[in-house]
Amino acid sequence: SGGYAGWHFDHSYARLPEVFYSSLPPVPVAEPKAVILNDALAGELGLDVEWLHSPEAAAVFAGNELPEGAHPIAQAYAGHQFGNFNRLGDGRAVLLGEQLTPASHRVDIQLKGSGRTPFSRGGDGRAALGPMLREYIISEAMHALKIPTTRSLAVATTGEPIRRETPLPGAVLTRVAASHLRVGTFQYALQWGGVDALRALADYAIARHYPEIDADGEGSSAAESLDASRETVHHEAGQPAPAESADSSNADGARYVRFLRGVVERQAKLVADWMLVGFIHGVMNTDNVTISGETIDYGPCAFMDAYDPSTVFSSIDTGGRYAYGNQPYMTLWNLSRLAETLIPLFDEDADRGMEIAEQTLAGFERLYLNIWFDGMRAKLGLSDREEEDEKLIADLLDLMKAFRADYSNTFAGLTFGVPAPEAEGAEDAGNAEEDFSGIGGSGGGTFRPTSFPGADALLASGEYRVWRERWRERLGHQADSPDEVQGRMRAHNPAVVPRNHRVEEALAAAADSGDYGPLHRLLAVLARPYDHSADQAEYAQLPPEADQGYRTFCGT
Ligand code: AMP
Ligand code: MG
Ligand code: MG
Repeated sequence: SGGYAGWHFDHSYARLPEVFYSSLPPVPVAEPKAVILNDALAGELGLDVEWLHSPEAAAVFAGNELPEGAHPIAQAYAGHQFGNFNRLGDGRAVLLGEQLTPASHRVDIQLKGSGRTPFSRGGDGRAALGPMLREYIISEAMHALKIPTTRSLAVATTGEPIRRETPLPGAVLTRVAASHLRVGTFQYALQWGGVDALRALADYAIARHYPEIDADGEGSSAAESLDASRETVHHEAGQPAPAESADSSNADGARYVRFLRGVVERQAKLVADWMLVGFIHGVMNTDNVTISGETIDYGPCAFMDAYDPSTVFSSIDTGGRYAYGNQPYMTLWNLSRLAETLIPLFDEDADRGMEIAEQTLAGFERLYLNIWFDGMRAKLGLSDREEEDEKLIADLLDLMKAFRADYSNTFAGLTFGVPAPEAEGAEDAGNAEEDFSGIGGSGGGTFRPTSFPGADALLASGEYRVWRERWRERLGHQADSPDEVQGRMRAHNPAVVPRNHRVEEALAAAADSGDYGPLHRLLAVLARPYDHSADQAEYAQLPPEADQGYRTFCGT
């Protein structure tokens, strides 16, 4: 029963107007089998771990059984895909409901690969095992890197082959998300539901993700009504309740401007997080941009090895639209689509609404750069700001590009080679007499890498030594000890990221020979990305021959 399993579903999204979704169950499969289960996440969700490993749970994760309280729906949305506007929707996914967790969070539980829906268009509604395992690995790695992301609770195989270029084993991923509201959901709302639907969606999104907007004082209290409707469902068994009770005149346009600003801030932070770890999303279409600020859609993503802003892995991104270095611009482009969609809520006068939208977006570039520069400062062990830092950082990246240096291993190399500050001028340099060359200053048993694959040539070069003198001098300007500097660097420069060849190796073993050993080992390593100890070092190695031809594929 649901009580034993630990499900506590609510369905606030389904209380939106009907234009936003279609009710339907997942399509049952031949032979459900859970191949990977996330015990830690299950615990956070309040699920019983014994149940998680039961045959009943496998049937739930494959879509053959509905957990108690589930009310499956496919969500409608639209999206600019590589710049072209399309009507979309969950073509191969259903939302089972929103789990109310022991910590009082509300999270979507979605089955992906669960069969055809009214939004499937020409597709079969299914997913292949390899890509679902890939999403599981990388989304969990992102979570461990402390980057906002959807998560993965389970992958179940279906016992049914799916037709692609060659037949592939089918699978269903159980995805957990703060919500599945996307920029494309808003585009859909305005285009196919009109301004009233748009306003209902915005009020819903404010209640669910930006309750602070209504927390102080007058106006609607959407957060309370989301909560109140939850109570209704719990105690009065499914009585519908309105998602919001706002006075929704354009007089409260300021609320919606604050909402846009909130999304802008979270997306600026998110893309900065990606850039700082070398993550390339690969398919930043507006249907893949969340309102919550979580990373979503791990189709063609990959981590960059050799630093080059023009890096692209996706086989379909032939124009480089979503190249590594383009990502902040693409985030701004996507936020611009959200802003223009919200114009009718900003002001009755369209020109005035447009002006408000433009003003709100004008702050994006500086906001993004401030977050990114602070992140880069942390990667270099800096805790305060000097104007010169921006040049110091830009010059390092130029060197990395010239040497085609491995992105992650360069920063790992810097972390374990924190240089001593200049000896001369020690009187006025706050900390200059301390020895920054001491590697692993906190000592005792700490593993100390001596080689940084893909970065050694850079780190041994004369150009780098010149740059390092400037860095060393800059470190002397702040009061932090070498231990503090290195501690900061260790916490911001991952020892391991999901390297493409390691991911492929784990997927091949699992999907081709049913051997999940390499996958479990990889997951264990990626769960501790900031652990720089010896047993992690193997996963910082580069592939035998540089995998510059690595390609990713979406839509399988
Ligand atoms: P994506 O590129 O993963 O963001 O997907 C874009 C759209 O294509 C979404 O509406 C998906 O639901 C839909 N889609 C992707 N694969 C399939 C499939 N195999 N069957 C039906 N719809 C799909
Ligand atoms: Mg998508
Ligand atoms: Mg996808």
